[in-house]
Amino acid sequence: MKKTTMGVISVALLALGLAAGIVMVPAKSARADEIPVIKDNFPDDNLRDWVLENYGDTLSDEEITNSEEIDISGKGIKDLTGIEYFTEIVYFDCSQNDISKLDLTTFHNLNFLYCSKTKITELNTSNNHHVQEIICIDCPLTDIDVTRSVILKVFDVESDDLIFVDLSMNTMLEKVSVKSDKFGGTIYLPPNVEELTVPIDWEMKILTKDKWFVKRTDWITDDPSGYAYADIVFQYDPTIKYYEVTVRIYATLVSAKYASCEIDGEYVYEAFLPQELSRTGEELTYNYRQEIPATGHDWGDWYVSRQATVNKAGEERRICRHDASHFETRSLKKLTPTPTKKPVATITLNKKNAEVVAGKTITLKATVKG
Ligand SMILES: [Zn+2]
Repeated sequence: MKKTTMGVISVALLALGLAAGIVMVPAKSARADEIPVIKDNFPDDNLRDWVLENYGDTLSDEEITNSEEIDISGKGIKDLTGIEYFTEIVYFDCSQNDISKLDLTTFHNLNFLYCSKTKITELNTSNNHHVQEIICIDCPLTDIDVTRSVILKVFDVESDDLIFVDLSMNTMLEKVSVKSDKFGGTIYLPPNVEELTVPIDWEMKILTKDKWFVKRTDWITDDPSGYAYADIVFQYDPTIKYYEVTVRIYATLVSAKYASCEIDGEYVYEAFLPQELSRTGEELTYNYRQEIPATGHDWGDWYVSRQATVNKAGEERRICRHDASHFETRSLKKLTPTPTKKPVATITLNKKNAEVVAGKTITLKATVKG
């Protein structure tokens, strides 16, 4: 029961986060206090030196708020851990560093991203809905997901290992330049890109929203993370191109009736995908009813609630650990009367004190023991 309640709270919190356009970050990124610029927070020596030089030995809320532009290009940085504290970044240039990982999760306001001449293999802007420009030349990129950066205008990527890019959701693209040594790659594009450069042997497909449909919706409500979400599987018109995309939407708990010992409960979730993130170009809302089976009682031990007597049966009782008003009883048999042994009294007279005279009456006091 307790566990279920926790799950629900997480879902509700997440829903709030999403509504505000915020994705929750680990507690480490909490800004309750100033962040010390130490190895624990910024493990890379060169990045830490750069932060120390520009911000001193602590990082305040105000400094973070004012850091919209971060240029750490060519600083010999190998690990960007710590950069996630700069949650207000609009312009980010981390080019010419030996970084192999770029986590943009906390950069909700990111507009411009420059990451050329790095070792990153993966570029994911799922939390960066405002990105307008991405330039990432001379990187070993293999995985790119910019499908949620729907106002992207410039996409300039060059990687020897790239074989697939899907830009079909980026309907505001003006300039696309993709270079790769891989032969026979595929690129999906929106209609009307003004300036387009793609490898000559690549297949170019213009995907239009009217050819998409929702193939299936999978609900996941028992994820160990405690969050509920819907995976919407979109499919492109298979007569043109067989292509499937799964878009995950975290759900909001819209109503909750908790299960009790004997009565089933019910959670109702809602998942909403705004128009701009929907492959079909239409906003989508899905509801899901999850039945929560009654928990059953969790009985404690039997205890005697009324002692049995010879005249009346007794009672034993046990109480439910979930709800003290739930109890069960069973009776205890009346006690059977058993005859007591005839008392035997022994009287010993102390001749010295007792005045025993024949024919005279004396009074004896006796105490019955046992
Ligand atoms: Zn109960």
